[in-house]
Amino acid sequence: MEFNTITDTRKKILSKKISILELNQIFINRIKDQKKINAYIFFDEDLIVKRCKQLEKFNDDLILKGIPLGIKDLFCTIDMPTTAGSKILSNFKPTYESFVSNKLLKKGSVFLGKTNLDEFAMGSSTTTSFFGNTINPKSPPKKKLVPGGSSGGSAAAVAANLCLGATGTDTGGSIRQPASFCGVVGVKPTYGLCSRWGIVAFASSLDQAGVFANNVYDTAILLKEIAGYDSNDSTSANVNIPNYFQKLNYNMSGKVIGIPEEYNLPGISDEINEVWEKAKKIYEKGGAKLKKISLPHTKYALPTYYIIAPAEASSNLARYDGVKYGHRANVDTSLDEMYELTRSEGFGKEVKRRILIGTYVLSAGYYDAYYLKAQKVRKLIANDFANAFKECDVILTPTTPGPAFGIGEKEDDPIKMYLNDIFTVPASLAGIPGISVPFGESKDGLPLGIQLLSKHFDEQSIFDAGLYLEKNYE
Ligand code: GLN
Repeated sequence: MEFNTITDTRKKILSKKISILELNQIFINRIKDQKKINAYIFFDEDLIVKRCKQLEKFNDDLILKGIPLGIKDLFCTIDMPTTAGSKILSNFKPTYESFVSNKLLKKGSVFLGKTNLDEFAMGSSTTTSFFGNTINPKSPPKKKLVPGGSSGGSAAAVAANLCLGATGTDTGGSIRQPASFCGVVGVKPTYGLCSRWGIVAFASSLDQAGVFANNVYDTAILLKEIAGYDSNDSTSANVNIPNYFQKLNYNMSGKVIGIPEEYNLPGISDEINEVWEKAKKIYEKGGAKLKKISLPHTKYALPTYYIIAPAEASSNLARYDGVKYGHRANVDTSLDEMYELTRSEGFGKEVKRRILIGTYVLSAGYYDAYYLKAQKVRKLIANDFANAFKECDVILTPTTPGPAFGIGEKEDDPIKMYLNDIFTVPASLAGIPGISVPFGESKDGLPLGIQLLSKHFDEQSIFDAGLYLEKNYE
């Protein structure tokens, strides 16, 4: 399909083969044609046209000038509502632009709209959104599959060519898992590389912004643009941001690729193991050395995550009380009743479950047994990775334990849903960067993804190794 990568489209804009308005009109039409996917939960044609006209005055040197993007509806945007996929924020219009989206605007991009997500980014299927689920564009004709989550709208929008790139957030896998399910590239950088300022908080010690696109080159361009220090976020890192795109080098000769023994888990489908094997062989062919590594605390990663993330969520979501902003229940009895009804009307089932778990693990009698213990185990998991990277350059794993599943399939069993995160959560707890690159197909022809992980702030290595895999796609 024409106009599906940033790199090619930019060339066409610069050579005046197409105007910015014409280009974005193509995307407007595509979005209208694909309404049933429900990738966008906010889309306003007039705003897009207005932005294109405004861009005429912008300098051509701006790397994203005219490039149409989708923005996960967790990033605060001045011109568009920000709902976090929740009823409680369904009427919320931020008064400021998030750090990340603001950087993209300054570089000349066009926001086509806000993309769907699991409510407050809690989920792996984009089925918990107050605005209905998103359908995976790679679904076979007779079955509707989930796009993954929580950034399912962004992944689906990129996969269906309803934008050239999109933002996402990843707390435990929310960029990498939907990227894998939809057959696109998704990058979660090092914790602290991109500012959290203006992103609706889920679990603040894990939340990290990142990007989706149709190839590794484009994600390298986008990540460079959204990264950077911000004094408004106390965990923002003041590090040098390399020009990942210009430095891309997919020569794998002499590289050491770590294969974690503990990721050979029971319950992983054969097709996943097969693509994992295939990927290993491809790296060997390119002159890389495979090295078995050990991440001994892997089995504790999911339980640790599902203590820490809900604990932080329960604290972060305390601000939604019907007073400051968002939905307010219609109650004229007492303030307490207003709080109670606002929250029980405004939050969905999964969000309530997390608030309950989080409140429990932080409560006086259980704090030491759960929360404090989980923090200690988190440190052990981070140490596992630090030790592993003494022996290898990147770590190679599957992204998910299986291909995209049917809508509604894991809904009644939260544990089954949480198992989706088994390969993505450890890196989130350690704060290291990860990429998911489409690689191979399931027996039913569905996309599968390979995950590559590297040391803190060594995004270049996962871009390089990811590009190598992309070039050798079989
Ligand atoms: N699926 C995970 C969860 O439900 C991760 C979500 C995310 O990364 N935002 O918490």
